[in-house]
Amino acid sequence: NTETLGDLEIAQRIQLRHISNIAEKVGLATREIEMYGNYKAKIPLDKIDKEKIKKSNLILVSAISPTPAGEGKTTVSIGLSEALNRLGKKTTVVLREPSLGPVFGIKGGATGGGFSQVLPMEDINLHFTGDFSAVEKAHNLLAAIVDNNLQSKSRSLGLDARTISLKRVMDVNDRALRNIVIGLGGTGSGIPRETGFDITAASEIMAIMCLAEDLTDLKRRLGNIFIGYTFDKKPVFARDLNAEGAMTALLKEAIKPNLVQTIEGNPAIIHLGPFANIAQGTNSVIATRMGMSLSDYTVTEAGFGFDLGAEKFLDIKCQSAGLAPKAVVMTTTIRALKYHGGAKLSSLTIPNVEALERGLPNLEKHLENAKLFNLTPVIAINRFISDSEEEIQIIKDLADKLGVKVALADGWAKGGEGALDLAQKVIDVVEGVEEEFTPLYEWNSAVITKIEIIAKKIYGAEKVEFGAKARKDLKKIYDLGLENLPVCIAKTQKSLSDDPSLLGRPEGFTLNVREIEIASGAGFLIPITGEMMRMPGLPGVPASERIDIDIEGNISGLI
Ligand code: ADP
Ligand code: MG
Repeated sequence: NTETLGDLEIAQRIQLRHISNIAEKVGLATREIEMYGNYKAKIPLDKIDKEKIKKSNLILVSAISPTPAGEGKTTVSIGLSEALNRLGKKTTVVLREPSLGPVFGIKGGATGGGFSQVLPMEDINLHFTGDFSAVEKAHNLLAAIVDNNLQSKSRSLGLDARTISLKRVMDVNDRALRNIVIGLGGTGSGIPRETGFDITAASEIMAIMCLAEDLTDLKRRLGNIFIGYTFDKKPVFARDLNAEGAMTALLKEAIKPNLVQTIEGNPAIIHLGPFANIAQGTNSVIATRMGMSLSDYTVTEAGFGFDLGAEKFLDIKCQSAGLAPKAVVMTTTIRALKYHGGAKLSSLTIPNVEALERGLPNLEKHLENAKLFNLTPVIAINRFISDSEEEIQIIKDLADKLGVKVALADGWAKGGEGALDLAQKVIDVVEGVEEEFTPLYEWNSAVITKIEIIAKKIYGAEKVEFGAKARKDLKKIYDLGLENLPVCIAKTQKSLSDDPSLLGRPEGFTLNVREIEIASGAGFLIPITGEMMRMPGLPGVPASERIDIDIEGNISGLI
């Protein structure tokens, strides 16, 4: 009974299988994996198989514009993957690693919920196999090398410290480190300058790791990280500081994807996790390719909503790695649609047909957006206990009207059994695919054009305005020869527009691009709209206060 059991209690009642049994299911012998204890393993990169990838089916799970609680993409992805396995399709779910920010902050972990979870949830949510730590070390090594060069007399590159945008990173929400002054304490202690900390998930190195093909490509991308300008206005990259070799060495284990299991004992691959609002926000290319090499169906997640995560997944990650999904699952909740229809956050569990109907245009827009990529969406109504039959019927009626497949997804309460209808509809779409996935824009179009295409077609903006800083940045990008990079627009997840207060399906608005950051290592440009938070703070009562461990090592209080 899920009404009384929390996610952690459910997870702790499951008898875990040894990871070698899970490996065997995907055709890997025990000697071929690298075990981290009994329930986690890394998979070596040589298990990626180009021929098998060609025959495998990639399913992208995304969502409508979410409420702050999340609409259940991870939960639906896991439930769907259990159900596909029940229907005889060898399936691996490929997900991101949780960041400790939300684990100790408000939202909690990212291992699914109810009877659709990946295990061991405690380990996955708390450091896991150390990948985030490795990213953090590699990032902070680069930052230390930069400051060391500022201090150096004989090897100085002449970097103008005021042009350095690279900060340090740490995987804890700590607002007190957002803006700091370093290098205090006299001539032996560095050059004083203003800088700060971002959360590790916001590191460009996290984004790089997620797009890298292998160690060589990783090293090349790390070398391409833009650091700043010299006093003579010459650009300086990480390679000019000979940083990329040591950074790559630190990342040699973190680049390998992690194998774990679902509640029903099916394979799950969990690997890395860049911020979804300022980076591409999905797990690594390597993890997706690994899932596809080892199974017939690979289910992966991109969020927050389709406008942010899925667009970037499709235009950046899929184009970069030559991947083409066969279907999109649009996770939809009745509570979020009511929220888009004007209902208060505190009232979402109360049936409210009028609000629900007013919120439907948000879902309609995300469905239209999926079709812009020639992808067929399937609506998954992620069922909450508070949903009424009448409310569920309203979404089904809309789906019928639009000619879109719809299924009630109840994996949270029932595991794979609750997602069989969804799985069958996904299989029907995959087996009937006629059109090829097509990205929205060509990478080699002008930067302004790329931004306008996304803003108008996906967000529904009427026009785009570029602030003074953004115009300067455009010139800088052109001078550096980086105008052919794809764009990874940083925007709020709360609205289809750049204004978090515009709910539903906003129209006639102007998208305001404030500045455009360069992530030349990751290989994209980041047009920034609105205020972007890269180092969150803890809430008044942090989730960490509930988390505890007993003398036997049993953890409690994780959500
Ligand atoms: P997302 O991946 O979209 O951010 P998650 O799958 O992580 O969302 O779910 C967010 C939270 O909501 C989790 O705590 C999860 O347990 C909970 N949740 C998801 N689906 C349901 C559901 N159908 N009923 C109740 N709680 C749910
Ligand atoms: Mg998720």
